[in-house]
Amino acid sequence: MRNNDWFLISGKQIDNPVNQLQRQRVRLEKFFEENKINLKINQKLVFINPKFVLYEAKRDFNVIMPGQIDWLIEELNRIPCRVYEHQQKIVDTIQTKSLKKSRYETDLDYEYDRLFKGITCVTCESFVEFDFDVSRKKVQCPKCGESELVDAAVLRNIKDYIILFPEEQLTVGRMLDWMGFILSKQQIRRILNKYGAKQGSGRKTYYVIDNNKLN
Ligand SMILES: [Zn+2]
Repeated sequence: MRNNDWFLISGKQIDNPVNQLQRQRVRLEKFFEENKINLKINQKLVFINPKFVLYEAKRDFNVIMPGQIDWLIEELNRIPCRVYEHQQKIVDTIQTKSLKKSRYETDLDYEYDRLFKGITCVTCESFVEFDFDVSRKKVQCPKCGESELVDAAVLRNIKDYIILFPEEQLTVGRMLDWMGFILSKQQIRRILNKYGAKQGSGRKTYYVIDNNKLN
């Protein structure tokens, strides 16, 4: 780890897990607000691979290393608590509603610029540098090996954007940026034209996508 960038021992730069954590946190905050859940979110970055070693991490960093997991669970179990009815309801709500399927309308105080840009993997949800197949129709996650059609991956990430920024316009430039410039302008435009309705023209062109196409 150097500054805020993360590298493998081989020198290859990887996506910063803190950014992934932040984007997931925003999604969870939205979910809580939507479902009127009043709970404090306490975030920790937990590395579960026992072979994982983090070099040059800052001391104040809120990270749980593989060797600390047992200790953390013991600590949590030591905190006395009683499960009240409303807390059980919260658990039920979380279990019955998938975060992925929920549509959030309300706005929270967070900024576009603060969120990490990129395409997430459908299976492991990490931000990845996708490998394209020869036809460029599919993308593959180098982390877990899952492959997905480009269109499906892009639509899923557009949906994330609409969930987080329902008031904002969908433009080619914004989607290009949101997905970390992994795709070309032409690819984004093709997908928006295919699944969305084009509005306006020239520099003011934006797209409206029917909810049904996103589910
Ligand atoms: Zn993956």
